[in-house]
Amino acid sequence: MATPKKRKSLTRRKRSRAHDKIVLPNIVKCENCQSYKLPHKICKTCGHYKGKLIIQPKVVD
Ligand SMILES: [Zn+2]
Repeated sequence: MATPKKRKSLTRRKRSRAHDKIVLPNIVKCENCQSYKLPHKICKTCGHYKGKLIIQPKVVD
Protein backbone atom coordinates (compact mmCIF):
# COMPACT_ATOMS: atom_id res chain seq x y z
CA MET A 1 0.00 0.00 0.00
CA ALA A 2 1.15 3.52 -0.75
CA THR A 3 2.38 5.60 2.12
CA PRO A 4 1.53 9.27 2.60
CA LYS A 5 4.35 11.65 1.75
CA LYS A 6 3.65 14.11 4.54
CA ARG A 7 2.02 13.82 7.92
CA LYS A 8 -1.34 15.57 8.25
CA SER A 9 -1.57 18.23 10.91
CA LEU A 10 -3.93 17.63 13.83
CA THR A 11 -6.38 20.20 12.47
CA ARG A 12 -6.37 18.74 8.94
CA ARG A 13 -6.84 15.23 10.32
CA LYS A 14 -9.74 16.34 12.52
CA ARG A 15 -11.28 18.34 9.68
CA SER A 16 -11.21 15.37 7.32
CA ARG A 17 -12.83 13.19 9.99
CA ALA A 18 -15.59 15.73 10.66
CA HIS A 19 -18.05 13.85 8.39
CA ASP A 20 -17.13 10.33 9.55
CA LYS A 21 -19.71 10.30 12.32
CA ILE A 22 -21.77 7.12 12.63
CA VAL A 23 -25.51 7.76 12.41
CA LEU A 24 -28.18 5.27 13.42
CA PRO A 25 -30.86 4.47 10.84
CA ASN A 26 -34.28 5.96 11.48
CA ILE A 27 -36.47 3.34 13.18
CA VAL A 28 -40.25 3.41 13.62
CA LYS A 29 -42.72 1.02 15.24
CA CYS A 30 -45.03 -1.14 13.12
CA GLU A 31 -48.71 -0.14 13.52
CA ASN A 32 -49.79 -3.76 13.27
CA CYS A 33 -47.38 -5.73 15.47
CA GLN A 34 -45.47 -2.95 17.33
CA SER A 35 -42.09 -4.35 16.29
CA TYR A 36 -39.37 -2.01 15.05
CA LYS A 37 -39.05 -1.45 11.31
CA LEU A 38 -37.58 1.00 8.82
CA PRO A 39 -39.91 3.82 7.68
CA HIS A 40 -41.63 3.40 4.28
CA LYS A 41 -40.78 -0.30 4.28
CA ILE A 42 -42.88 -3.42 4.73
CA CYS A 43 -42.69 -4.85 8.25
CA LYS A 44 -40.53 -7.98 8.19
CA THR A 45 -42.31 -9.50 11.16
CA CYS A 46 -45.96 -9.33 10.04
CA GLY A 47 -45.70 -8.35 6.35
CA HIS A 48 -47.96 -5.30 6.77
CA TYR A 49 -47.60 -1.84 5.26
CA LYS A 50 -50.06 1.03 5.86
CA GLY A 51 -52.45 -1.33 7.63
CA LYS A 52 -52.64 -3.81 4.75
CA LEU A 53 -51.11 -7.27 4.44
CA ILE A 54 -48.63 -7.04 1.58
CA ILE A 55 -46.56 -10.20 1.93
CA GLN A 56 -47.19 -13.35 3.91
CA PRO A 57 -44.55 -13.41 6.67
CA LYS A 58 -42.29 -16.46 6.78
CA VAL A 59 -43.12 -18.93 9.52
CA VAL A 60 -39.97 -19.73 11.48
CA ASP A 61 -40.15 -22.76 13.73
ZN1 LIG B 1 -45.49 -5.57 11.84
